[in-house]
Amino acid sequence: AKNAGKNTICFFDPALQEQIDHNLELSRGLRLALDYNQFFLEFQPQVNREGALVGAEALIRWCHPELGLIPPNRFIPVAEETGLIIPIGDWVLKNACKQLHIWKSHSKAKHLTLSINVSSRQFSQSNFVEQIKACLNQYEIDPKCLELELTESMLVKDQNDVITKMLELSKLGIQISLDDFGTGYSSLTYLKRMPIKQLKIDQSFVKDINMDLDSANLCDAIISLGHSLSLEVIAEGVETLDQFEYLAQRNCDLFQGYYFGKPSSADQLLKLIF
Ligand code: C2E
Ligand code: CA
Ligand code: CA
Ligand code: CA
Repeated sequence: AKNAGKNTICFFDPALQEQIDHNLELSRGLRLALDYNQFFLEFQPQVNREGALVGAEALIRWCHPELGLIPPNRFIPVAEETGLIIPIGDWVLKNACKQLHIWKSHSKAKHLTLSINVSSRQFSQSNFVEQIKACLNQYEIDPKCLELELTESMLVKDQNDVITKMLELSKLGIQISLDDFGTGYSSLTYLKRMPIKQLKIDQSFVKDINMDLDSANLCDAIISLGHSLSLEVIAEGVETLDQFEYLAQRNCDLFQGYYFGKPSSADQLLKLIF
């Protein structure tokens, strides 16, 4: 471009421009999505070593009127950039609590836990814990049933704030799980300093368990690390019997992945118990 600085070369990257336009369109759409009820949750089973259903992870879906189903990997980053993740995160929390409330009245479902993904910006809100508390009260939820999935990168930012919040949450009885474990920043000191209940082995390690010794060894190491700190360990992205058997034999506690069930409606999930 003509007016760009002397030493700057200004490229017009059509792919990048398309991306920017697309993100703009997404962020406009996201603003409306809540009002027009375009979000819904799917639930993916989490099972124990015996294969029994113990809980689920809630995963958000966006059904866009023109673009169809947009995957969260596409719109969550846009929601984070624009701040829309705050109302969307509230929506997820509320709907997760609604679901837990429904399960509470099923004799066979009342033990189920539900994990929700919490984004960094949402967790940083000063009233985050208050909101959780309010939601638990409103829907009369046993706090033990609600789990929050945080990622490692969220823990390194403002450690004192993070620890304060985590302590408050765990005092309430809410469980904290570290999502995508092994892929983030490698400071392990927070495992000692923070009330974490569960490590979630990232699916990239699980994927190659039976093909690549390094991945298998990494899974072994994460399970040992977790157990030596009295943490529960869950593997995500379990797609085959071989992967399940390997991890079960290594004493991994819980499992989630297509082998046990894809994310689905709550009704579909309950078919796994009844
Ligand atoms: P995540 O939290 O790591 O969620 C696991 C992702 O792996 C999900 O993708 C799930 O459908 C997929 N998955 C589960 N089992 C298997 C398997 O066996 N094989 C393979 N290949 N994939 C499997 P999904 O639903 O597309 O979500 C992608 C990401 O979007 C999530 O990754 C999470 O970071 C984010 N996300 C989803 N829902 C929410 C939400 O409500 N709030 C926030 N902040 N983020 C969310
Ligand atoms: Ca759980
Ligand atoms: Ca997750
Ligand atoms: Ca994950």
